[in-house]
Amino acid sequence: MRRERIVTAKPNFGWGHLLLKESLLTSVQNMLVYVDGVFCSNSDAKISVFDHGLLYGDGIFEGICVYEGRIFRLEEHLKRLYESARTIGLRIPLTPAQFETAIVETVKRNKLKDGYIRPVVTRGVGKLGLDPKNCQKPSVIIIPQNAESYPLLTAGRKPARAIVSSIRRTPSYSLPASAKTLNYLNNILAKQQATYAGVDEAIMLDWMGFVSEGTGDNLFIVRRGVLSTPPLHSSVLGGITRQVVLEVAQALGISSEERELTIHDLYNADEAFFASTSLEIQPVIEIDGRIVGDGTEGQFTTRIRERFNQTKRTEGTQAL
Ligand code: PMP
Repeated sequence: MRRERIVTAKPNFGWGHLLLKESLLTSVQNMLVYVDGVFCSNSDAKISVFDHGLLYGDGIFEGICVYEGRIFRLEEHLKRLYESARTIGLRIPLTPAQFETAIVETVKRNKLKDGYIRPVVTRGVGKLGLDPKNCQKPSVIIIPQNAESYPLLTAGRKPARAIVSSIRRTPSYSLPASAKTLNYLNNILAKQQATYAGVDEAIMLDWMGFVSEGTGDNLFIVRRGVLSTPPLHSSVLGGITRQVVLEVAQALGISSEERELTIHDLYNADEAFFASTSLEIQPVIEIDGRIVGDGTEGQFTTRIRERFNQTKRTEGTQAL
């Protein structure tokens, strides 16, 4: 239906140019998705309605970037995936080496020079009822995306306005934040608050009221020349980009610390930025209506972002 409309659209009138863009999008989105060892087209990439990943959010995932045909920090992402699996008591039916091969193959088959890969492991098909013991075998899915089909990949180029959300990060004594599970409703509720407030992102606090992280990204601030980020015990995900930022800061001679941050620290920061695989380094220029610094990307953020950009282009597992 949609394709037909696109084909008949005249590019120079009305919405024609947008429809043409859509047609481009349809073709770039048609990548091969890995599902349990088989590469399928988008429309054939399906899992059962009895999969506990769908029914109960029972599963884990990763988000990995590819730059110039090289997979960035693949080893760290795989390590986190297997740790998440262990935490939720899920046995991934591939060894880490086999998983790595499957990811590399996904990049190869799709000639994904620059883009993003989403490995997902669900608990698999089972009977209704929470108990995972009814599930026969976890499902392994690897979804490739390029910038056109995953807008978050370019969102980070624009500075962000943020609010502090009233939705608290699930405490680690309920669901360990270090495990990257399919349970994101906590973060989704906070993200909706940001959207309703007309800003880009929500900053979540931990159960004690200390600053934790964004809804899908870690948070850094700079105050009096020191880079600070909440410690892992503030219910944050141990972000791979967070780790790269700490390494980059050290290489640049910028002092950094992991310490509990309060809203006061946030409101009085000279600079702030989000860090994640998809956003990379995104400057934060407003928090709860307070302008951060002079309302533009700060000088420490620029230095870290530029060095990060160098790092991402020189490292990685060669796939193409
Ligand atoms: N926190 C949360 C809640 C996330 O989902 C993510 C990843 N999207 C991050 C932080 C950043 O982690 P990474 O740098 O490994 O992408």
